[in-house]
Amino acid sequence: MKPRVAVFSFTCCEGCSLTILECENELLDVLNLVTFVRWREAMTETSDDIDIAFVDGSISTHDDVRKIKQIREMAKLVIPIGACAYNAGLNSLKNRYGMAQVKEMVYGEDGAQFDTIPARPVSAVVPVDFALPGCPIDKDEFLRTVRDLALGKTPKLPDSPVCAECKRQGNVCVFTKGMKCMGPVARGGCGALCPSFGDYCEACRGFVDNPNENSHKETLAEYGLTAAEVMNYFSLFNSYDKSQI
Ligand code: SF4
Ligand code: SF4
Ligand code: SF4
Repeated sequence: MKPRVAVFSFTCCEGCSLTILECENELLDVLNLVTFVRWREAMTETSDDIDIAFVDGSISTHDDVRKIKQIREMAKLVIPIGACAYNAGLNSLKNRYGMAQVKEMVYGEDGAQFDTIPARPVSAVVPVDFALPGCPIDKDEFLRTVRDLALGKTPKLPDSPVCAECKRQGNVCVFTKGMKCMGPVARGGCGALCPSFGDYCEACRGFVDNPNENSHKETLAEYGLTAAEVMNYFSLFNSYDKSQI
């Protein structure tokens, strides 16, 4: 029997679940492997009988906490997809402020009535079985993951830095153009997407498991930069700090 798959969204732009919907050419192949049983963005049917729950978005309200715990009880596998769910992504920027201040900044004097808590990755609230990084997720990586899961294989994330992919593409390093880049320590798997279009890498896929910090520091020093300066610059996707919660 094909695994029963659900897609859930929490606090986010839902761009990662939209990426699944955009697998237009591959969707029929995916449907040969799994059955979608619940996915607000794509279908009206709903079910609580779930084998694999893909989840995009951060956990950022008390209601989110309650719902993700319910999903964990319903599904055999829970798989966060995208930076918001993987490491709280952009949403964790709000954790730099007090929640009362956040509510006032966003909603003005009516803000007090809104339920908001510091943004967390899904794994900070319930155990997860795998996770796909990226903002948004990489479509091919998602398809590989579905195939692996349907075949009973354990999916794996690439553990080499974006720099390795960038060099394979023959890109001109953006450091030589005066930009800063997280490629030496950022987790690859995106095909060095941003540097391939002349932009810098912001590590939207997080970091490799054992970043070669010394090598990164040497590269930075060559261009008159320090690791602290660069980390501050690149905190957009990687500022979640559980000690702030
Ligand atoms: S990771 Fe990016 S694309 Fe995905 S839901 Fe969050 S903000 Fe949207
Ligand atoms: S630092 Fe950035 S631009 Fe330079 S090689 Fe690495 S990924 Fe490419
Ligand atoms: S190059 Fe960096 S920021 Fe761009 S998609 Fe890849 S990991 Fe994300």
